[in-house]
Amino acid sequence: MPSEFDLIRRFFTRPTRNTLLGVGDDAALVRPTPGTELAVSTDMLVAGKHFFPDVDPRQLGHKALAVNLSDMAAMGATPRWATLSLALPEADEDWLKGFAEGFFDLAERFSVDLIGGDTTRGPLNICVQIMGEVSTGMALRRSGAKPGDEIWVSGQLGDAALALAHLQRRIELAPEAAAACLPALHTPMPRVALGEALVGVAHGAIDISDGLLADLSHILEASGVAAEVNFPALPTSVFLQAHLHGEIVRGCLLAGGDDYELCFTAPLSRHEEVVAIARRLALPLTAIGVIREGSGLRLLDAAGTDMKIGATGFDHFAST
Ligand code: ADP
Ligand code: MG
Repeated sequence: MPSEFDLIRRFFTRPTRNTLLGVGDDAALVRPTPGTELAVSTDMLVAGKHFFPDVDPRQLGHKALAVNLSDMAAMGATPRWATLSLALPEADEDWLKGFAEGFFDLAERFSVDLIGGDTTRGPLNICVQIMGEVSTGMALRRSGAKPGDEIWVSGQLGDAALALAHLQRRIELAPEAAAACLPALHTPMPRVALGEALVGVAHGAIDISDGLLADLSHILEASGVAAEVNFPALPTSVFLQAHLHGEIVRGCLLAGGDDYELCFTAPLSRHEEVVAIARRLALPLTAIGVIREGSGLRLLDAAGTDMKIGATGFDHFAST
């Protein structure tokens, strides 16, 4: 049975690029770039709650970091450093190898250094902390939305929740639809380049981890504004479109979690800039509504009629 120190050395110690002192001492040392602020966030993934315990460890390693990178994207920050705290029921070396590969593949893609963590025995639990840099005073906050802003989302919404509903047998997807949606659930790609590009352009931003309506509502509350969202404008995959008449699928689109797309608001005068960012990043950006004075969120159908929004969760969505 390898010791905790063997495991850390073999699986979680890699050369760093942005770091004065990484894994191995009592604390890591980093030097933030002058003129930047440090953006710090953490997300915990608990087996049975946030993932199936038997999920592919490579995908889990990817996702544990991806959800944290997504928080950096939502702030417009450039991710630089991460720590990883792991509770493991056993030292399964194949599992650790896969987990580390998934984690480091994504870390290297975004030039993020793993600079420390903690490793202990216990029920499977993964806690990543991420630190990034954003130019002083320029972070994208939830509180920045202004009346008249357009509301945008990146990518397409609902596929991850659709894949989850399929795995939970609440709906049944055809094999090619399942194959197309499952990566959104298991290996989401955080929109870091988009967040960076939106600094100085967007007013308010959030990443969609708990569903569009819930996360947009956080922007509305923090900014003290209201929103009108056009349901037919919401970007969805052809697979989701095919099932859109069903209540569960509408729930996936509006209230499903795990999308990790960005929702942001930007003044109408910056519309063409946002379009240019979409083109440059080869990432669809869709205007889905507008910010208004007041409070609350209206969801409008193709005729401009209000659709009912339940208080919580997709089970409460009612069709018009
Ligand atoms: P201490 O007892 O001083 O807290 P530890 O023995 O917990 O130190 O950890 C030794 C070193 O290994 C520290 O630098 C710590 O940050 C790092 N470390 C521990 N677990 C992990 C992990 N899962 N991933 C990356 N670094 C880790
Ligand atoms: Mg320790």
